[in-house]
Amino acid sequence: MGDKVFNDKKRFIWILSLLLLAAFAVTSGISYQVAHDSLSKQIKDNNLPLTSDNIYSEIQQDLLQPIFISSLMAQDTFVRDWAINQEQTPEDLIRYLKEIQEKYHTVTSFFVSESTRNYYHSSGVLKQIEDINPDDAWYFRVRSLPKSEHYEVNIDSDSADPNRTVIYVNYKVFDFNGKFIGVTGVGLAVESVKRLIDLYQQRYNRNVYFTDRQGNITLHSQQYQGELNLQDIPGLEKLATRILTSPSSSFSYQKLGQTIYLNSRLVPEFKWYLVVEQDDARSEKKLLTTFWINIGLSLLVTLGLLIIANLTLGKYQRKLELMASTDKLTGAANRQAFEETFTQSLAQSVVEDSPISVLLMDIDHFKKINDAHGHNVGDLVIQTLSRLLAGQLGPNDLLCRWGGEEFLILLPECNVSQAAELAEKLRSSVAQRELSVNGGQIKVTISTGVAEYRRSEKSEELINRVDIALYHAKEQGRDRVVISY
Ligand code: GH3
Ligand code: MG
Ligand code: MG
Repeated sequence: MGDKVFNDKKRFIWILSLLLLAAFAVTSGISYQVAHDSLSKQIKDNNLPLTSDNIYSEIQQDLLQPIFISSLMAQDTFVRDWAINQEQTPEDLIRYLKEIQEKYHTVTSFFVSESTRNYYHSSGVLKQIEDINPDDAWYFRVRSLPKSEHYEVNIDSDSADPNRTVIYVNYKVFDFNGKFIGVTGVGLAVESVKRLIDLYQQRYNRNVYFTDRQGNITLHSQQYQGELNLQDIPGLEKLATRILTSPSSSFSYQKLGQTIYLNSRLVPEFKWYLVVEQDDARSEKKLLTTFWINIGLSLLVTLGLLIIANLTLGKYQRKLELMASTDKLTGAANRQAFEETFTQSLAQSVVEDSPISVLLMDIDHFKKINDAHGHNVGDLVIQTLSRLLAGQLGPNDLLCRWGGEEFLILLPECNVSQAAELAEKLRSSVAQRELSVNGGQIKVTISTGVAEYRRSEKSEELINRVDIALYHAKEQGRDRVVISY
């Protein structure tokens, strides 16, 4: 029975822990998923478009200025009159270009005349544009731009310093009759624009770059080390056309196992796309940390609950076992518990070759007590006697309530004469006193049978012999001890 209870308890605790762990795992998993989804949504719908807006408007301020300046130069009546009047005093235009460059902090400023093909620069006449020179292809490209387009933005090496890369704004110049007379404009150093992009990247913690309509990455930060065409960026190959065919787009893609959120928009003045990217690595890491903390806490809670359940169940189980093995009225062992202990003790006495004895006692004329004082008082007498007997037994002796007012006492390592001696001591201690019960004093006596276990005797035979001895004690006049030989 004990084993079954133990296995049930083990199974219960296993099921409880599995249920708890499963519940915790599911809730942690779900909350992680929910947080993850709302994080993605937050980045995609809010953070990224907002920063993209901010960067876009800052770029308007920082990058559109050269286009504006170039447009002013192309409209300038001084420039146009000077060109129409056969470019007579080059120093005047050169001074003009120099002033533009200084005032607006551009790296270069220029005018190319259609009639002379002279390239005027803030430092003088640099050269003559030739249609066979591939370096000068830009001029002819600008010249043949459709009527509706007044300028182009072009990244090229500096005509005055080939080691430097410059963003040129090339603006068409017309005379007062609308005839094409040249190209003018200013240039920005790519390095300074890259520093600008660095600044945006740091400020917003995003990846920022520009591509032209073909997907070539035209401008990027100084630290940028990736591919130079959208189609070559891992994970973006197929999505590149999406960016290049719509004025703005917003989506996420997987790059080397990481989710990248991307927002693009066309900057019409440049015919470039501004691309702002954000990875979710940092927030994702925070989510994962939270997830593992959740799991850790769940484990702790489960462990705590298991310990509590185990202790409570253990306590409950011990209580049940005690209840099942003790007599309710007296607290002495019951018959079932006695039989278990008796079997063990018998086996042990055989192994150790030690004697073992039993006493069977019965209260004399108990019916009369019941009759005189009532059943309840009778019960109290049994209880009080039980306490009296137990108080005089050794730690290895076992007191058992054998029947209504009968007690069986098991005495391990005790031979028949030691048993008889104890029986006599108990008899006289009962006989000598009045039991205080319910405020009154009641005198009882007991009759006792004594028997020592005999080798190869069955336990029933021993009980039978001690019962006969008790019967003889009653027969011989009660309040006495009779030994079974
Ligand atoms: P004897 O000296 O021959 O033992 O006489 P007795 O009256 O004690 O006779 P016996 O032992 O045969 O009867 C026991 C009586 O005790 C019978 C029953 O009414 C009473 N009795 C048995 N169990 C209980 C009990 O738990 N409580 C009470 N109050 N009385 C009990
Ligand atoms: Mg009896
Ligand atoms: Mg009796």
